[in-house]
Amino acid sequence: MGNPTGFIEIARKLPEDRDAKSRLIDWQEVHEHLPEAEIKQQASRCMDCGVPFCMSGQSEYAPVVAGCPVNNLIPEWNDLIYRGRWKEALQRLHKTNNFPEFTGRVCPAPCEGSCVLGINADPVTIKLHEVSIIERGFSEGWITAQPPSKRTGKTVAVIGSGPAGLAAAAQLNSAGHKVTVFERADRIGGLLMYGIPNMKLQKELVERRVQLMFEEGITFVTDTEVGKDISLAQIHADFSAVVFATGATVPRDLVVDGRSAQGVHFAMEFLGKNTKSLLDSQHQDGQYISAQGKDVVVIGGGDTGTDCVGTSMRHGCKSVIQLEIMPQPPGRRQANNPWPQWPKRLLVDYGQQESVAVQGHDPRIYEVMTKQIEQDAQGQVVAVHTVKIEWQKNATGQMVPVEVAGSATRYPADLVLLAMGFMGPEAAPLQALGVAQDARSNAQAAYGAFNTNVEGVFACGDARRGQSLIVWAINEGRGAAHEVDKFLMGKTYLPK
Ligand SMILES: Cc1cc2nc3c(=O)[nH]c(=O)nc-3n(C[C@H](O)[C@H](O)[C@H](O)COP(=O)(O)OP(=O)(O)OC[C@H]3O[C@@H](n4cnc5c(N)ncnc54)[C@H](O)[C@@H]3O)c2cc1C
Ligand code: SF4
Repeated sequence: MGNPTGFIEIARKLPEDRDAKSRLIDWQEVHEHLPEAEIKQQASRCMDCGVPFCMSGQSEYAPVVAGCPVNNLIPEWNDLIYRGRWKEALQRLHKTNNFPEFTGRVCPAPCEGSCVLGINADPVTIKLHEVSIIERGFSEGWITAQPPSKRTGKTVAVIGSGPAGLAAAAQLNSAGHKVTVFERADRIGGLLMYGIPNMKLQKELVERRVQLMFEEGITFVTDTEVGKDISLAQIHADFSAVVFATGATVPRDLVVDGRSAQGVHFAMEFLGKNTKSLLDSQHQDGQYISAQGKDVVVIGGGDTGTDCVGTSMRHGCKSVIQLEIMPQPPGRRQANNPWPQWPKRLLVDYGQQESVAVQGHDPRIYEVMTKQIEQDAQGQVVAVHTVKIEWQKNATGQMVPVEVAGSATRYPADLVLLAMGFMGPEAAPLQALGVAQDARSNAQAAYGAFNTNVEGVFACGDARRGQSLIVWAINEGRGAAHEVDKFLMGKTYLPK
């Protein structure tokens, strides 16, 4: 700890985001960066406390007790930044996290929720430091391909190229195994590529990392759906081990009258096509669902819904609202949600900021339930009908939604986007290999072991734990790699 009184003298500071109105004309990242001197000052706020909860995320307590799921060595790199020893900070960062350029941008930063300084002051800007270290590393040319010095002769198939599959591939390749990543999309990255929109994570950053991994010797096979274009039996026979990292891609549907109306889409169809068309042709090919000039109703108040709001705003929608069935979170931590738990409080994310700037209000409407989707004679959606609800305890103590009499509301809609979460992984590929699924339909593989009931077949990321976060996907990809290496070699030096 370079500056023992930094946490007293210096206030938390983050870079200003780009102006919420003017950033709507492009698809560039909304966040800016701070100058080096200010980042050093911010790093000096770290108290290097005796028990750094910030770096101690544990799966069994997630998401209640937070801390960094990949156990980033946060106090160490905070100190190294303060001293200007960026290269060493980078080495420490890469020890625990294969892809800090992604988490440093889009992780919700559970580390900051459990920062000790956060007990009675603003927490350290940990996520800012993470992205600053990795981008310094790239700009200085310190990050180069590191192929393994020798090969083991073992082969591993990784199915799915999201952060879990990529982390597993990077680790297994570093141990000398020949890794092939199969991806059904035309580009590598999973939800890093075709889920999270450009303004949160620019796709050049994903491609930059994939290029390094390619140079390190990993084979990427795109446009190939395992189970359709190549059989699971073949993959199982051809490779020494198989890792399922297929994500939790089955969306939760809305079972109401009018669901099949034209203009009602799952969020992922909207977001995925938007990014593909943007990357392929700057939207010139028209192969995306446009919100331009439309009244958009997003059903689902979470992050995916927010990405639909931000994307609709960039298309130039006429209006956008975001319907949420749960109550509005409190403005600050409540007594029953103490530190170091993840603070459950109202956040105004980029999409909501943009709505406030353009429409003059937050697009979210809380405690509403969709009852019906109205369509015209041509089958095109024209409105969404809702009722207000209240959450009340039933006879068994369970919280249930109760409709408020006389609260029926009709919202005009030309485009309805369903962003109500995900049910789990697609079953067919798992079943083709006889991989057991748990009660939530996820691939059944214990956390920490990651092996399924089929010998030599492992599962990690959202396919194993259900829809989660990039940082958990990286944690699981690394953990699965550790177990695969042990399975292949009888021992492993890969970190867990
Ligand atoms: C819209 C959206 C925004 C999000 N924003 C954030 C955020 O800001 N921060 C954050 O931390 N998390 C965010 N998340 C969650 C995060 O993206 C996921 O938790 C994470 O990507 C899961 O990683 P994964 O590798 O397990 O799966 P995925 O990223 O889902 O990747 C799975 C891949 O497997 C491929 N695949 C599936 N089946 C097959 C098959 N049979 N053959 C070949 N390929 C196959 C899929 O095409 C996909 O590319 C967001 C999620 C969504 C949907
Ligand atoms: S990966 Fe997420 S939790 Fe870990 S240090 Fe970075 S921002 Fe914090």
